[in-house]
Amino acid sequence: MSGSKIKAPRGTFDVLGEQASARAMLEARARSILEGAGYERIETPVFEATELFARGVGESTDIVRKEMFTFQDAGGRSLTLRPEGTAPVCRAYVEHGMHKLRRPVKLWYLSSFFRHERAQAGRYRQFWQVGAEALGSEDPAVDAESIVLLSRLLAEMRVSDVRLRLSSLGSPESRSEYRERLQTYLRAHEDSLAEEVRARIDLNPLRAFDSEHPGTQRVMQGAPRLLEHLNSEDAEHFAQVRSLLDVVNIPYEVDSTLVRGLDYYTRTVFEFTSDALGAQSGVGGGGRYDRLVEQMGGPPTPGMGWAAGIERIMLAGDAPPAAPAPVELFVALEDPHADVRAVAFALLNEARSAGISARMDLGGRSLKGQLGHAAALGVRFVAIVGRNQTTLKDTQGGRQEPMASDAVVHAVLRAHRAV
Ligand code: ATP
Ligand code: MG
Repeated sequence: MSGSKIKAPRGTFDVLGEQASARAMLEARARSILEGAGYERIETPVFEATELFARGVGESTDIVRKEMFTFQDAGGRSLTLRPEGTAPVCRAYVEHGMHKLRRPVKLWYLSSFFRHERAQAGRYRQFWQVGAEALGSEDPAVDAESIVLLSRLLAEMRVSDVRLRLSSLGSPESRSEYRERLQTYLRAHEDSLAEEVRARIDLNPLRAFDSEHPGTQRVMQGAPRLLEHLNSEDAEHFAQVRSLLDVVNIPYEVDSTLVRGLDYYTRTVFEFTSDALGAQSGVGGGGRYDRLVEQMGGPPTPGMGWAAGIERIMLAGDAPPAAPAPVELFVALEDPHADVRAVAFALLNEARSAGISARMDLGGRSLKGQLGHAAALGVRFVAIVGRNQTTLKDTQGGRQEPMASDAVVHAVLRAHRAV
């Protein structure tokens, strides 16, 4: 059966060549920054019970209302491809009793996520995020540390024109009082609001700050601001986060209209944007979620974390690509006889076991073609395996020496040590 070509689904892409090595470099940077700060890697399943996100991310969010890839398994259970990483990490924290570990428990991930969105540059249906979560401490230093780590990653990836916006949503107590105040204000201006915003006055009035509807934006300019209604502990917490960022010279802009698209945030929220990105300007963001673990059925456990989009870091970043690891040894066949191939194959594997990066011809090329391939790879050592002997060529200095094939690895290692 042959037929028409099958393409990757809309909003998805293949990672190839330079993109793949650039991502590997980003991952290495992230690992070094985060593990250097005590974060440990976590991997959670690609799909979870739908209930986890409905409860964890929040029924009133865009993610749960319209962006989830949800399906039923053969047993009739509702499952969802993970749209974000914080709820799964909290689920794992509770499931594995991690509250017994030394606090804060610091976890990081780099994984793919899925949202049913309108695909465009910087916005995909399968995309990758690097994220970090610290669970078990409400110390403002945890907030500041977490923000500084993302800032460092963006700097190392040379993401240009980065801006940091920062705010506090307060604790649920101070928020509920403010919520009523805001609801009263929104109802008084209902006629000028977008339909969508009006529909969410009861469920999630704060999202009105995020609306792109001109009428709503005009109304919101005069709306009461949560930041001005924090209770004294929340205000003090926010002041400490800011002063720690000042200590390490991280510039930020306090933005009282910043509300993040997830329901679980409390106190600190922040977002890094890059002006190099155009419309999809968010590079990464996060905040504190002091009630989420409890909502997942765990013990009361404060949390703080962020996630940043890998594709957007790549788009706005300018980190030089990592040079590919050089090939040190090329094993060439003088003739294609099976015995010669066997000796060459054994040599190839012996070299690799000794930690030498090695290749051999797998394309049935002539000896001349093989030597051309070796030259194109920029290989220093070429072993030419013949029926009776092997010759080792050192292209640096042009020496050529006949030897037993099992002496080649030793000779290459010795030459390396001499450098
Ligand atoms: P946006 O406002 O762009 O929709 P968001 O608020 O939905 O972003 P978060 O849920 O906070 O984003 O995710 C953190 C980061 O993940 C974003 O800052 C962005 O870099 C990236 N991201 C989110 N959705 C997508 C997507 N569909 N495609 C690519 N990257 C994404
Ligand atoms: Mg979004």
